[in-house]
This record gives sequence, structure tokens and C-alpha cells, in this order.
Amino acid sequence: MTSNINKHADLYASLHADSLLAHGGGGHDAVTGAVTPAIPTATTFVRDEAYDLVSPTHLYSRDHNDLFRKVEGLIATLEHGAESRLFASGMAAIAAITRTVRPGETILLQSGIYWGTTVFFRRTCERNNIALIEVDATDLGALADQITATRPAMVFIEVPTNPFLKVADIRAISALTKAAGATLCVDATTVTPLIMKPLTLGADLVVHSATKALNGHSDLLGGVVTTADATSAAWDFIRVERQGAGAVMGSFEAWLLLRGLRTLALRVERMNANAQGFAEHFAPDPRVESVLYPGLPTAEGHDLAKAQMTNGFGSLMSIVLKGDRAGALKATGALKLFQRATSLGGVESLVEHRETIEGPNSGIPGTLLRLSIGIEHLPDLIADMDQALAAI
Ligand code: PLP
Repeated sequence: MTSNINKHADLYASLHADSLLAHGGGGHDAVTGAVTPAIPTATTFVRDEAYDLVSPTHLYSRDHNDLFRKVEGLIATLEHGAESRLFASGMAAIAAITRTVRPGETILLQSGIYWGTTVFFRRTCERNNIALIEVDATDLGALADQITATRPAMVFIEVPTNPFLKVADIRAISALTKAAGATLCVDATTVTPLIMKPLTLGADLVVHSATKALNGHSDLLGGVVTTADATSAAWDFIRVERQGAGAVMGSFEAWLLLRGLRTLALRVERMNANAQGFAEHFAPDPRVESVLYPGLPTAEGHDLAKAQMTNGFGSLMSIVLKGDRAGALKATGALKLFQRATSLGGVESLVEHRETIEGPNSGIPGTLLRLSIGIEHLPDLIADMDQALAAI
């Protein structure tokens, strides 16, 4: 009896992403027929009497893990990329990308992105004699000037940004980086590959915190980097660095991630619809100054978002309230269904007062609430925010 994996290789290659995801990348266990994979626990693999590996692709589990390979293959397919590598967290993945840049070189980093990424770049560049220039990547003219002036080795952007939901033009930036010989890396965590595939827009590398919507259940830390070109120098470094520096995902986390991915299409569909409905409901609310969400036709960057994204605009948004910081904190405290916690992309809706986290000099308005919209019944989410705003 042959395995489904080989028998249906052509089918899996032609499937819609939703079907491939439902089947966890396709195939069943060749020996037992199990429809879900086992969790590989072995760290090391034996050699025969001639000292050849029993399996040439299994030596030591820091790199040689069949479940990693399965999840990486699935994510590379979703991204329309060449290869992926899983990491222990989103930041471990970003750290490996950062280390592709050598002392003496320059990185252009988009300003106003996830705070943890900014802090990490600042610390790393300072200690390693790498020039770091922070620039608003949605201002193409300013970015182009910086690229011409500094000839960076890497441009790192986040699309859309967390927490301002700004949308940079990946295609246009890629034309600039290609002309300058720089690597373009896009953090697309806030939307998932079902909504946006940066590699098809010209990016060289795309990174996700798999902790967020890829897994979707707020129960694992993970990261994944995918390359457009498996032969590039940057990818060669990242592959070797993952194994050498050892920031690998645990097998159990890889198993949980694959389980989460099986429902990604459904979760993205519901979360997008909820976020769009929520944003449209509160945008005209007199208690709300503005709703930052690329799905709103009035949003800065909406046309670009429409051109770069399919299947909706993601589950992250920020709402800026009228009034002051104290009122915003009061509304946050009055929410009952939204949980007051950091992170995003999970099935449960979360709220965060970002300025409290990042500090008064961070540029985050004290009236801004960052919302990660989950899969709940939309009227329940609206009712919860409505009663919280009434409590101010
Ligand atoms: N990128 C973005 C956009 C994020 O929001 C985060 C975390 O919030 C990360 C990267 C870091 O991911 P992790 O927490 O998995 O290290």
C-alpha cells in the first residue's frame, strides 16, 4: 500500500490554500495512516556499522525535525516562497534576520512599528557598529532619499504597522531596494499570508510571529522566516544561523502550530469580517476620534491595502478615543469581553493601552486602544465596547 503523500503529490501542489491548510499540508503517516503527525521527540539519530546515518536527513534535531519540515513546507507554499524556517519566537526569527547585516553596514528600519522590534534593532546595531536609520516607510520620497544616501544592506518594514496600521508600498519599496542591492524584509505578522504575500510583491524575506494569527490560540511562541530565493546569501546565513545559534521551535510547539494552521482560513475569514464590521460600526461614533484600520475606505493607505491584500484587511486595529488618557484607561478597565492583554491574532479579542506599555515618550497617544479582534459573535464585541465607552 503506497502512502497518500506520494500518491497525491500533484493534488496537493494544485490545491487552494484553504484545502491544503485543512489537511495540515497534506498526506498521512505512511506507516500507520494517522491523519495527524506524531510529535517527534528524539534529539539524536543512530548511525549504522559503517558509520553512515541510518537516515541521511536525520542527524540531530536542532535542524532535523520532520515536523518542522512539514510546517515549513506548508508556510512556504502559503507565502509563494522558496523555503521557510521556524524559530523559537517571532523575535528569534527577526534576530536571525538582523544578524545577516555586518558591522559597518547600514539598516533602514521603518519607524512606528512593533516596539519590541525597534528596541531590538537599536540595541543590536549600537553594539555591533551597524548604522541604524529609522524612517517612515510610507513616505516613499523620504525612503528613496535615505536609500540613495546610505546604501543600506537591509530595509526592514512592517505591513501594516502595529499599532498604527500604516501601509507601506511593498512593490515600490522593492524596486528601490533591488536597484540599491539591499535585502527587503517585511514583517507581515498582522495580516497572515492568506491576506498578503510580500514575496509576490517583490520582498526578499517575509517574517511572521507565529505566536499570533498563524497559530491563533495564544498558546505558543514561534516565528517563521520565508525566502523568495533559497540560493541568496541572506538565506544561506539564516539557515545556518538557525541551526548554529539554535533558536529552534520546540516539537510540541510545531505540532500545536500545525494544528492551529488547519483552521487558519476559517479564523481569518471570521476575524476579518468581525474587524471590518467593528471598525465600520465605531468609525462614526461621536465618542471616537478615529479608527485606524486599513479596511475603512477613509483610512490613509486603504487603496494601497486593497492593492496588496486579498480576503480582507486583518484583525488588528487601533481606536483613538476623544477625551484624555484617563478616560481611555477607564474605558479599557470597563471592558468585560475584550481581555486586557498584550499580543494579537488569537481567537479571543484583546485590548491594550499601548502607551502604558511603551511609555509617555513613545509617540503613542494616551487615548489609543489597540484591539485584536477575535472570532466571537460581532454584536457581543460591539456591545462590550459600547458599554465601556458609556462608562467614561
Ligand atoms: N512582529 C510583530 C508585528 C509583533 O507584533 C510581535 C509581537 O507582538 C513580534 C514580531 C514578535 O513576536 P514574538 O512575540 O513571537 O517574539
